[in-house]
Amino acid sequence: MPELPEVEITARRLSEALTGATIESTLAPGINALKTFDPPLHALDGRQIEGVRRIGKHAVIDVSGGLHVLVHLMSAGRLQLYDKRASLRDRTSRLLLRVDGGSGERELRLREFGTKQAAWVVGARPLQAALRDQRVITGIGRSWVDEILWTAKLSPFKRANDLDADEASALRAAILERLGGAIDHYEEVVTLPIPDKLPLPLEVHRHAGDPCPRCGTTIEAVHYESYVLCYCPHDQTDGRVLKDRRLSRLLK
Ligand SMILES: [Zn+2]
Repeated sequence: MPELPEVEITARRLSEALTGATIESTLAPGINALKTFDPPLHALDGRQIEGVRRIGKHAVIDVSGGLHVLVHLMSAGRLQLYDKRASLRDRTSRLLLRVDGGSGERELRLREFGTKQAAWVVGARPLQAALRDQRVITGIGRSWVDEILWTAKLSPFKRANDLDADEASALRAAILERLGGAIDHYEEVVTLPIPDKLPLPLEVHRHAGDPCPRCGTTIEAVHYESYVLCYCPHDQTDGRVLKDRRLSRLLK
């Protein structure tokens, strides 16, 4: 979190609310968030927001004069629009853009939860250079990978190179179905202000121990250091339950 569908709905809602607004001032309390910035942050002051969109997992704020603010939310970042200005005591604030309109105190805020600062902002021109590190498929993170593989009935342990033509097309269809479905779901339920926790329509991820919604088999999990992989043994691994690495470590 946040992954492609979550960044997409965030960009859409912010674009609806902010297109045409003028940036009055900028502030970066979490200065570590600013990776590189040339021109400087204050070059945004007085400029108009032309739109907000998503490229891969990045949110991009297009600003008049050919400037773009590229935001990567990493694992715990949120880009939210508020009617009130942030309290200076809010330690989650990384970047504050004060914009006109609304109550007159509107503020677009990049916030980050947790202790590790990871979200970042780049003033990019041209944009492509900053996006060069994007992989073939961007924006699909751990939660949606579990859902997509379950939808395609593919083992999470299968190598991509070993997929036959049918499996590859099932995977492609599942990506479109699950990411598209998530965005459709968010279109219905998400309004401003965007909540800290979006209502992810997950069926398998975070559902270890629950019955599979398709066949009723208990959803199994493999625990890694920083994440949990969930799958249905009946649908995805020919009935095999794969070793839970957390347990095998404890038993060593
Ligand atoms: Zn199943």
